[in-house]
Amino acid sequence: MVHLQKANFHAQSIYDIDISFLVKLERRVILIDLDNTLSAYNIMVPSAQTYKLISDLKKSGLIPIIISNNREKRVKTYCSQLQVKYLYSTGKPRTKRIKRFLKDLGIDPLETILIGDQILTDLKLGRKLKSITILTEPISKKDQWTTKINRLIDRPLRKHYFKRNMLGREADKRKMEEF
Ligand SMILES: [Mg+2]
Repeated sequence: MVHLQKANFHAQSIYDIDISFLVKLERRVILIDLDNTLSAYNIMVPSAQTYKLISDLKKSGLIPIIISNNREKRVKTYCSQLQVKYLYSTGKPRTKRIKRFLKDLGIDPLETILIGDQILTDLKLGRKLKSITILTEPISKKDQWTTKINRLIDRPLRKHYFKRNMLGREADKRKMEEF
């Protein structure tokens, strides 16, 4: 079994997390994975729901930053429409590029919450950065080939966590008790 990358919290999707819950975690920066966390990888135009989420985060005083392993063109096209800070080709779960990027923005990794759909890239990175991690389920069944390989490990690992009640505390607004 791969070294355990347990999340602090779990939600069905990023859209099922209450902003007030994030605010209560007292970390001002929300690092958000793009493909299959915010949108399917082949969606180039953010949905109304995504616009609303980013706008609500900003209104609550949080700083959303999109971090993606995908290429410049895909990430730039998507994120510039949302007017949100982003980093492409991050090399998750490696921390080097992201740490430097955060440092340039004057952000300490300890100020971050990381939300993503993959255990091997997102959660592992979050753990290294000492972010508060929230694992989501993939928003679509479609994956790029690189992700397809990761899913071969991600899926059984997720099942393993689920069976042992180790997926992370519930952060899904429809299921969680008062935080
Ligand atoms: Mg993803």
